[in-house]
Amino acid sequence: MSHLFQYMAFLWSYISTFLSSQSNAHPTLQVSVPVARSFIESVTEKAVGTDVIRGVQPEQQLVKVVNDELVQLMGGEVSDLVFAKTGPTVILLAGLQGVGKTTVCAKLAFYLKKMGKSCMLVAADVYRPAAIDQLTILGKKVGVPVYSEGTEAKPSEIAKNGLKEAKSKKTDVVIVDTAGRLQVDKAMMNELKEVKKAVKPTEILLVVDAMTGQEAAALVGAFNVEIGITGAILTKLDGDSRGGAALSIKEVSGKPIKFIGRGERVEDLEPFYPDRMAQRILGMGDVLSFVEQAQQVMNQEDAEELQKKIMSAKFNFNDFLKQTKAIAQMGSFSRIIGMIPGMNKVTPAQIREAEKNVKFMESMINVMTADERERPELLAESRERRRRVAKDAGKTEQQVSQLVSQLFQMRTRMQKMMAGMQGKDTPDMEN
Ligand code: GDP
Repeated sequence: MSHLFQYMAFLWSYISTFLSSQSNAHPTLQVSVPVARSFIESVTEKAVGTDVIRGVQPEQQLVKVVNDELVQLMGGEVSDLVFAKTGPTVILLAGLQGVGKTTVCAKLAFYLKKMGKSCMLVAADVYRPAAIDQLTILGKKVGVPVYSEGTEAKPSEIAKNGLKEAKSKKTDVVIVDTAGRLQVDKAMMNELKEVKKAVKPTEILLVVDAMTGQEAAALVGAFNVEIGITGAILTKLDGDSRGGAALSIKEVSGKPIKFIGRGERVEDLEPFYPDRMAQRILGMGDVLSFVEQAQQVMNQEDAEELQKKIMSAKFNFNDFLKQTKAIAQMGSFSRIIGMIPGMNKVTPAQIREAEKNVKFMESMINVMTADERERPELLAESRERRRRVAKDAGKTEQQVSQLVSQLFQMRTRMQKMMAGMQGKDTPDMEN
């Protein structure tokens, strides 16, 4: 079964070549492709070391490996809120505008009240007067006081005064709502830093919209570097998003997701269970189909040969054509990308571009001689050959050179990847 996993990893690496080789690749892709790639690589690594259990279908076994890896990637265990040993616990909520921060304030207060803790909400979002009204209404609804000073005061002052009031009332938990922006910006970060300095929060929770997808990694990274988050809350999981953002949060920040939001009501907040989230990602993704299809197009001999070729850096244009065909058999790039957890946000335009790239490359390979396909070095060494291929394919000489150098880059990358995996090999490899 190890060959199957290596093959899957190979396929992924292969497909990502086309995605990342696009000149107009979306910048956010560069952030999350590594997350997805490292995920596939660690699944492969684990799977290679897994013995086939008698009586269990290999696909099911793989799904378990993938599931376990997803659970690990998301932190493994449930991560509880941390409370201050003395004085009020301060929870600072940060996040972009519209992600559900204000709603989370009320949800958290409702949750904590049920635990028997007294709460106070602090309205430090001074940019939207409506935000203060919204918080006041929500506070009433859950029966907790809301501290506000209107829109003129400084957020850090409001937070400080709010905390003072909470202390005098012996409130257990103070939840500070802050202003978001449409995008990460300096003013927002500076304001958060000041609020942080003023109230020294026990928890700084980043609220992330589950629909965020690819940008999640950059977003989490920015907040974590600037203000140092202690965890995250993933909202709007009642929608049809697969929740790929959950994968980036722990990976990028090292901090766990503590809660998820599943609706607009104050009751719709639950602790985050990595195993349930893994099942959601798996259930809505198609890892099982990916395995089944990879299995269908790959036979053991081919896989062994491919592996040998990669290891000895002999991957050539014939192999390229063969693998492209295998992918077509599995049902297009977009299907395969859709089956890989966390990659469901690659845009259709990017996929079309990747598919166009492949067609473009194929048209040049098709006019090569058998020798040239087998030994790309011939093309690398001879300008005459490159010119001929360009002419016959109706492309420029530069485009042919690019294709050749891409193949060499691919060789190096795949060889590195395979070598990395083989280092962790077990005797199961020989099966
Ligand atoms: P803020 O700008 O971050 O404070 O966001 P709000 O708390 O004002 O929420 C923005 C919108 O998202 C509101 O219409 C909320 O009702 C809605 N919302 C918040 N959390 C959830 C959730 O978990 N699920 C759904 N479906 N909607 C949510």
